[in-house]
Amino acid sequence: MTAPVNVAGFVWDPRLASHVYRDDHPLKPRRLRGVHDTLERIGAFARPNARLLAPRDATRAELGRVHDAAYVDAVIRASADPDGDYGEWGLHPFGDTPPFTGMHEASLLTTGATLVAMEEVLAGRARVAFNGAGGLHHAMRRKASGFCIYNDPAIACGLLADRGMKVAYVDIDAHHGDGVQAAFYDTDRVLTISLHESGRTLFPGTGFADERGAGKGAGYSINVALPAFTDDPAYMRAFDAVVPALVERYRPDVLVTQQGIDTHFTDPLTHLQLSTRAREHVVRWFASTPFRWVAMGGGGYDLDAVRRTWSLEYLLMLGAEIPDDLHDQDPPVLSGRDRVAVDTQTDAAVKAALAAAFR
Ligand SMILES: [Zn+2]
Repeated sequence: MTAPVNVAGFVWDPRLASHVYRDDHPLKPRRLRGVHDTLERIGAFARPNARLLAPRDATRAELGRVHDAAYVDAVIRASADPDGDYGEWGLHPFGDTPPFTGMHEASLLTTGATLVAMEEVLAGRARVAFNGAGGLHHAMRRKASGFCIYNDPAIACGLLADRGMKVAYVDIDAHHGDGVQAAFYDTDRVLTISLHESGRTLFPGTGFADERGAGKGAGYSINVALPAFTDDPAYMRAFDAVVPALVERYRPDVLVTQQGIDTHFTDPLTHLQLSTRAREHVVRWFASTPFRWVAMGGGGYDLDAVRRTWSLEYLLMLGAEIPDDLHDQDPPVLSGRDRVAVDTQTDAAVKAALAAAFR
């Protein structure tokens, strides 16, 4: 426990960025090379509190914390023989989550990378550790979904809860973190908070405030369903009204974040209008908390927005200055009738989320 408390780990291996879902698929793991190379070029990894961490493969037992053994067996078969029929497991050749050669092995390393981040933080060797390859929050117990095969954030949260820790999971991807919510819907040991574009206009169609958990978990699944075209001012207001208050009330032992950047205004898959400015605001808050912190990537389909934003976010973890060229220079801000409409719907989403929360 003698490591400087401000150490920030960055999990990296070129193999995390080398698999291809399908040539025309929007999720391009190679986007992480741009993040790594940008950080290297500006000297981030040479800073005294930076640590590059090597990933490891997740174990079968770790996958089993969230996934059914029959599902893992199906992924192993699909990985060796992607031309078979795996439709019942959510794998479709021309769908969101296609079977591809080596998918099991790539997913084991992606998941293990998140677990290395978790272990580094738990051991006290780092205050925070980031796995940009992870954050695959849509995978379900027995089903691949939305580009996600193994649900690394849910596995990490589950393993932390098994150690008796209280976990606050905050998901700022544009899509609802449905797989993580489902894994902890009936427990108060993992608080899940997801801010996302409303399911009325975006996959997976869930994540409304009335999905608040069940039994002991009632009030511990929090959803802020934002309107399409939510911009920086509206988003920051929603985040500030919900996340600090609930996380501080919950008093977790560990903060786990999914930092998908498909919220960006140039992202081709979603309708949110955020820039690097809102993200700096949010990630600065994560960094300002006293909690141990396990951070992951997530969605992000404009590769340059991914490169700049996750580089910026790792610099915030290091406590380093942010070069201006990582920021968006002219982010969109709503005005007039659009401003009023988005603000009104955002405020309603915030009110509903707070009303659904545990006391
Ligand atoms: Zn997403």
